[in-house]
Amino acid sequence: MARQGRRGLPILLLLLADNGTVVARRKASDAAHDVVPRDGTLCRLTLRDILCKTAPQVHRLRFALPTVASGEPACCGGAGGGIVHVMIRAPAVFNQSERIAPYSATLDGDGSFSIVVKIYPGEPPAYAAVSAHLGSLPVGEYAHVPSIRAQDWRRDAARVGMLCFGVGLVECLHPAEALLAAGAQVRIINAARRRSDLILLPRLRALLSSHPASLSVLHRLSRPEGGRGAEAGGGDGAGEAGGGRGAGAASGWGRERTADGRVDAAAVASEFGTGAWSGGSTPPPPTHFYVVGTAAQEQAFLGMLFAAHLADPRSLRGHPPFLLQLGPFGDHSGWRPLSPPELAEEEAGAAENDEL
Ligand SMILES: Cc1cc2nc3c(=O)[nH]c(=O)nc-3n(C[C@H](O)[C@H](O)[C@H](O)COP(=O)(O)OP(=O)(O)OC[C@H]3O[C@@H](n4cnc5c(N)ncnc54)[C@H](O)[C@@H]3O)c2cc1C
Repeated sequence: MARQGRRGLPILLLLLADNGTVVARRKASDAAHDVVPRDGTLCRLTLRDILCKTAPQVHRLRFALPTVASGEPACCGGAGGGIVHVMIRAPAVFNQSERIAPYSATLDGDGSFSIVVKIYPGEPPAYAAVSAHLGSLPVGEYAHVPSIRAQDWRRDAARVGMLCFGVGLVECLHPAEALLAAGAQVRIINAARRRSDLILLPRLRALLSSHPASLSVLHRLSRPEGGRGAEAGGGDGAGEAGGGRGAGAASGWGRERTADGRVDAAAVASEFGTGAWSGGSTPPPPTHFYVVGTAAQEQAFLGMLFAAHLADPRSLRGHPPFLLQLGPFGDHSGWRPLSPPELAEEEAGAAENDEL
């Protein structure tokens, strides 16, 4: 049994590397992302909002799209509404041209898009420092956004457990909003270090008040203020935003709860286990899971699902069917230029092809 369990994880690693966030970073330099900015890839920063003031800060940045930008690339069987990422390139310094990183983006529908960026310390040449570049870009200046993509995801999920680490919450909110509007139940574990690190609370609270019977939010704080460390924190029900009683196992619909301690299998079982969902049919609809964080965090979540008996690694023969991400079964756009290549570039590309 243990052997099979151990074999399951490397398979999943490969699957995630194929379809998850990991690959975006690795392929950043492989894909055809313009190195030289052009009118169609330059986006003017119109707004900076500091969401978290303690280091590392978190900034929400709004950019005007170039008028020639193509918008969300075709995805999702023509339905659109994919999970959108933009690739951002910081200017080359010290001959270091690979200063490029992907960010989750919200297309605002008015010719602009927003990203939420955690600003890491470090500067070139030791670091790519794309986030540091975005952290110091003056409002009115331009960022180089060579490409954009839209990822397909499972729209028919009825019960969805989301684990969102830090700024990963941004990427959770778009599917959460769409699923709730479609009548699904959504339970979010929002993992942060401290209460002061919590971001996007107005948007979360608006969603809670419009879906009181089908959304629950648990903030899980790994380093809560007041001197309690993650290990000492432990357990659910450490508190409830708004002053109510602590979070019990399950339920919590329409309420914002807070608990101390790192996310672990027990928390996952309590929030996403069978007893956490309301109503039900016979048999109950399957639960799907969505995790947004670093590769290590995503990997750890899979281990928690197995430990909590919410998924069985032995039955996996391909992309995990319990993930909201559709993996190889989805209609993803792939990375596309932010705007159509300009004529001269098209001609250069055609000439290059003729030579081959
Ligand atoms: C698909 C995808 C979507 C993403 N969306 C977002 C998003 O919406 N918002 C966002 O802020 N980021 C997002 N990221 C992460 C982003 O792409 C960069 O990796 C991040 O901004 C750091 O890049 P950098 O060049 O500033 O860091 P680097 O210059 O490479 O590193 C600077 C310093 O920060 C540290 N550091 C870098 N990354 C991390 C990390 N994850 N955890 C801890 N320390 C770190 C480094 O060790 C180093 O000390 C996403 C990543 C992927 C793959």
